[in-house]
Amino acid sequence: MRILPGNLQRQFELHAAEYEQKALEVLRGGWYVLGRELAAFEEEFAGYVGAAHCVGVANGLDALWMSFKLLGIGAGDEVIVCANAYIACVMGITIPGSTPIFVEPDEYDNIDDAKIETAITERTRAILAVHLFGQACNMDAIMDIARRHGLLVVEDCAQSHGSHYGGQTVGSFGHAACFSFYPTKGCGAFGDGGAVVTNDAHLAEECRVFRNYGSRRKYDFERVGANSRLDELQAGLLRVRLGHLNELNEERQRLAQRYLDGITHPLVRLPQVRPGADCVWHQFVVHTQKRDALQAWLAEKEVGTLIHYPIPPHLSSAYQYLGHRAGAFPLTEKAADEVLSLPMYNGMTPEEQDFVIEMVNTFAGGD
Ligand SMILES: *Cc1c(COP(=O)(O)O)cnc(C)c1O
Repeated sequence: MRILPGNLQRQFELHAAEYEQKALEVLRGGWYVLGRELAAFEEEFAGYVGAAHCVGVANGLDALWMSFKLLGIGAGDEVIVCANAYIACVMGITIPGSTPIFVEPDEYDNIDDAKIETAITERTRAILAVHLFGQACNMDAIMDIARRHGLLVVEDCAQSHGSHYGGQTVGSFGHAACFSFYPTKGCGAFGDGGAVVTNDAHLAEECRVFRNYGSRRKYDFERVGANSRLDELQAGLLRVRLGHLNELNEERQRLAQRYLDGITHPLVRLPQVRPGADCVWHQFVVHTQKRDALQAWLAEKEVGTLIHYPIPPHLSSAYQYLGHRAGAFPLTEKAADEVLSLPMYNGMTPEEQDFVIEMVNTFAGGD
C-alpha cells in the first residue's frame, strides 16, 4: 500500500464541490485583488481566532517580518525564539534587521519557557512563540515573562490554526500573531497566503497600508511598503476551508489518537501533548535514535515520511553569520537527528493508518 506523507488531493476532494463553486464565483466576478472575499475572510478569520483584526498578506514569512518591522523591532534589537523552529521563523526576525536569540525546546518540541529568562538582555524586545507541529507553547508562562520584562509577544501560528492553550485559541494571546495559509498548513489555501492577526487597531492599520505599497489611497504613497496581498481567489477558497476547519482539526485529532493508541514500538517515542493545551496535529512527529533506519524501512514499505527539520536554523548556511557552532543547542540538534513525521492528512483511511502502524511496530530496529 503506497502512502504519501501528506495528501492535498484527498483534502481537496473532501469539499471539492464547494471549492469549485467558489473558484468560479471569484473568476466570474472580475475583481481579483483587495476585494469583498478578502474583507469577508479577514473578518471571519479574526472571529475564529478571537481577535479584533486580521490583515491578509501574501504568505506567512511576510506576516512575520512585517509584524516585527511595524512593531518597531529591527537593527540592534533581539528577539527570543525556539532553536527548534522552521527557518521562516528566524528569517521573519532577521529580515527587518533584528537578531534571533535561540532557546532550546522542551519535551513538547516547543520553546522551553523555563529557559527564556536567562536569554533576556537589555536589547531583548520580543518573544516569538512558535506553536510548532500544531501544539501551543506554554502561553501562561510566556505572557507572564513578557509582562515582567516589558517585552512584546508575537505568535507564529503557521502550524496551529485553531489549537488552544487553556481553552483560548492561539493567535489571540500576543501583540500580533502570524499565520501561513500555504497549501500544506491546517488552514491551507491553493497557493500562497498569510495573515497578521492582532487586537491592536493601530498595528492592523499599519499592516493594511504597508502590504499595499504603503498606500491608503490610490497613488498616495505614505511610506515605502511591500506588495504583499492575499488575493481574492485564495481568500474565497480560504473562507470555504475555514468553514470546515474545526471538523478537519477534529479528524486529525482522531487520526493522532489512533497513532498514539496503536504505535507501541519500544524505540519510538510518541509526541506528548502539553497539559492545558490541545494540538491540531499539523505533523505527527515521533522521535527515535534509529530515525534514518526507520525512515528507510518505511520507505521500503512505500510509507512516505518527512523530517521536520533536518538542519536547525542556527546550523543552516543562511545563519553562519550568527556564529553558532554545532553543539551550541544540543537538544535541538538531537531533535534534528531523531524526528520523523509520519503520514498525516485529512481523508486518511483507517486501512492506510493501520498499515503505517503495523509497519512502524514491525520495524526490526535497524541493527
Ligand atoms: C510555513 C511556516 C512559516 C512560513 O509561512 P509561508 O507561508 O511558507 O511563508 C512560518 N513559520 C512556520 C512555523 C511555518 O510552518
